Amino acid sequence: MPTAISTDVLIVGAGVAGLWLNARLRRQGYSTVLVERASLGGEQTIKSQGIIHGGTKYALHGALTGASEAIADMPRRWREAIEGNGELDLTRTRLLSDAHYLWSPGTLAGNLTSFFASKAVRGRVDQVKGEQLPPALQDRAFKGKVYRLAELVIDVPSLLANLAELAGDSLLAGEQVEPLREGDELVGLRVDGREIRAQRIVLSAGAGTEDLLHALGLKQPAMQTRPLHMVLAKGPNLKPLYAHCLGGGPKPRVTITTHPAADGQWVWYLGGDIAEADGVAREPAAQIAAAQKEIANLLPWVDQGQVRWATLRVDRAEPAQSGLVRPDNAFLAEQQRLLVGWPTKLALAPDFSDRVLASLERDGVRPAAQPDLAGLPRPALGVPAWEQLLP
Ligand SMILES: Cc1cc2nc3c(=O)[nH]c(=O)nc-3n(C[C@H](O)[C@H](O)[C@H](O)COP(=O)(O)OP(=O)(O)OC[C@H]3O[C@@H](n4cnc5c(N)ncnc54)[C@H](O)[C@@H]3O)c2cc1C
Repeated sequence: MPTAISTDVLIVGAGVAGLWLNARLRRQGYSTVLVERASLGGEQTIKSQGIIHGGTKYALHGALTGASEAIADMPRRWREAIEGNGELDLTRTRLLSDAHYLWSPGTLAGNLTSFFASKAVRGRVDQVKGEQLPPALQDRAFKGKVYRLAELVIDVPSLLANLAELAGDSLLAGEQVEPLREGDELVGLRVDGREIRAQRIVLSAGAGTEDLLHALGLKQPAMQTRPLHMVLAKGPNLKPLYAHCLGGGPKPRVTITTHPAADGQWVWYLGGDIAEADGVAREPAAQIAAAQKEIANLLPWVDQGQVRWATLRVDRAEPAQSGLVRPDNAFLAEQQRLLVGWPTKLALAPDFSDRVLASLERDGVRPAAQPDLAGLPRPALGVPAWEQLLP
């Protein structure tokens, strides 16, 4: 039987939420154990587009109500961390783009004129032209309008490596998670037979959280998943583009981000409306055909001749909500020692950790345990989808 461990905080699920929280707790002197059953960040986090939203996109459908939303502050917090003077040392995280862009392929529709005039957007959006345009839009045939948003795009694989480094010896590869109780009280978890006691237990297991709650005999907080059918394109002639392309509706028609593959080529990663309802219903071949048509319409100068294509199905995991409006804050629920939540966005990982730290502070939970964690089995880093699907 493996030896028992006592730690200050035990976290289950090493996506961006668990890894960020783990690094912040360690920096504040708490001992932690972070359990991961598969790979670090290998689920939603590495499949995300890496955009550090400030919320401008959500102002499109009126969901962003103002500066009170946590998301408005996220680009600043991430930037400071990446520059080495923030809450974490993320100087080894690669910034892919200093800005994300909004791109309107035709003339602005009426609702967008009021959008750009709205209070939520003023001061955060500048129009760019000519050489300031993203490289993929610098073509004589390009006719649309492009606005620069004060949002970042990060390279998620380098973020995960950076956060894994900050985790030191706290990472534990473990699959079987069971409750550890004293009387009626949950005092820790048994992970692959190893007893781990903790002052607080945090579940940040993304889509896996519902099953973990069931294993603990709990039904709340309720979770929902939202399926997506993303498209990947890889080719020697693709140029960087980080943009939401606006259609007539409230959601971006397509959101394109660009990622470096190990062989030096660029990969375009397509989300937005194309990856939602209609896209989810399409078979992969039809989804690729839809994406090819969209690129031919929007960017007719792009040579698709040598481009290779793939699709990726992935679910987003979030707290259950009524309606379709997405929250612009991380979510955390508390039940005695147990804290359960979803950041709801990569960008909101700092907000998720704020909520856990506020709970510890409120309850007077202080660093106490000093476990010896040397030699624990360690989970591997998640691998980007494009390296698996388009090697
Ligand atoms: C296609 C896509 C694009 C996105 N783009 C963006 C974007 O550009 N910007 C943005 O801000 N957000 C984006 N998001 C949202 C963002 O990716 C997620 O909100 C965020 O990554 C969630 O992080 P997490 O740590 O909660 O979950 P995850 O990254 O899913 O991590 C959960 C971890 O828990 C582990 N786990 C599960 N069950 C167990 C168990 N029983 N025991 C141990 N470990 C377990 C899993 O293996 C996993 O590693 C996107 C999401 C998707 C799907």
